[in-house]
Amino acid sequence: MITRRQFCATTASAAILVRAPNAFAATYDMIIKGGRVIDPSLGLDATRDVAIAGGRIAAVEANITADATETVDARGKLVVPGLVDIHVHAARSKEGPALALTDGVTAWVDAGSAGADRIDEMAAVARGAPNLGRLLINIARTGIIAGGELMDMSRADVGLARGAIARHRDIVVGIKARLSADVVGENDLEALRRAQEAAAPFNLPVMIHMGQSFSPMRAILPLLKRGDIVTHMLAPPPNAIVDDKGRLFPEVLAARRRGVWFDIANGRNGHIRWDTAEQVIRQGFLPDTISTDWNTESRTTGVIDFANVMSKFLHLGMPLDKVIACATVNAARMFEAFNDRGTLNVGAPADVAVLELRDGNFEFVDNYEGKRTGKQRLFPSATVIGGKRAPAPRA
Ligand SMILES: [Zn+2]
Repeated sequence: MITRRQFCATTASAAILVRAPNAFAATYDMIIKGGRVIDPSLGLDATRDVAIAGGRIAAVEANITADATETVDARGKLVVPGLVDIHVHAARSKEGPALALTDGVTAWVDAGSAGADRIDEMAAVARGAPNLGRLLINIARTGIIAGGELMDMSRADVGLARGAIARHRDIVVGIKARLSADVVGENDLEALRRAQEAAAPFNLPVMIHMGQSFSPMRAILPLLKRGDIVTHMLAPPPNAIVDDKGRLFPEVLAARRRGVWFDIANGRNGHIRWDTAEQVIRQGFLPDTISTDWNTESRTTGVIDFANVMSKFLHLGMPLDKVIACATVNAARMFEAFNDRGTLNVGAPADVAVLELRDGNFEFVDNYEGKRTGKQRLFPSATVIGGKRAPAPRA
């Protein structure tokens, strides 16, 4: 048994040991001071300081008085775990990942830009990224192409996809299949079957791009397994997750119970319409993840940035902490590669997004030129990745 006196002595000598190598070194590398820390992974929403040392979260406490090499003033701002965007097209260019980082995105998944033919070059982009980048491989060898990559089903080559995954086991975290009729015609179920066949030996999830498919969601959803992801969950009819009266199909609830995830993916065309969004949210069927589906053309209008997409869900009535959860801890749980992300837990990699929540009148658009005016909008303010400040976001 340790007496109180012994315990104190032990703690004191431990503290001396930690500081001994350089008596003049600051205790922490960085302190993010005075922000409203919202971390759904810890159930935390309070004014806190976040201390960082050695690239990891060292403490999350009120009024940390120890010294730090660098201090970030976060008063009046939100301090949240680095954002995790599970549906982007950032791997299409070398500049993409850095652009995501300015949004506060410290981990991302490129969702099917590349198939087997171009996976090597996009994997190289992910490996060279300043943030944590992973890829879903498109079941079509060409990746996404104009006119629909699965209009010719010979492109859905299971052997080629498996070979590409085997070459990049560290980077490819799932398979993407776009099931809209303008991508795959009437062959959506066969495309899904091949995606699952490619995924099976590696035990990887399949992400389906839903909306305006030939087959109804009632036929598609029962084929999905635990860990699979439905992206563009708010796509309007034909073949939405709601019927023509706006009621959720029972298969949707059954899929969620089975462990299938539902993701937003704002994008540009056919993926989100206000009336469908309102029907779904009103029934209490909230997304597991919010994602942008951004590409370089959607950064001036529609998507803009991750914070803008998140703000649309504040406007739709989701509470702030749930919106943050959809962009952090929930997203991190979907992929093993992100297991230690989406959290400010002590010991986790020091990936932090500082956001501003401004009041005012902000215009939000869906994919059908529908406009809504919201009263609040989130803006990226600063990003810390691995304990280091990232370049400032655009003004
Ligand atoms: Zn996409």
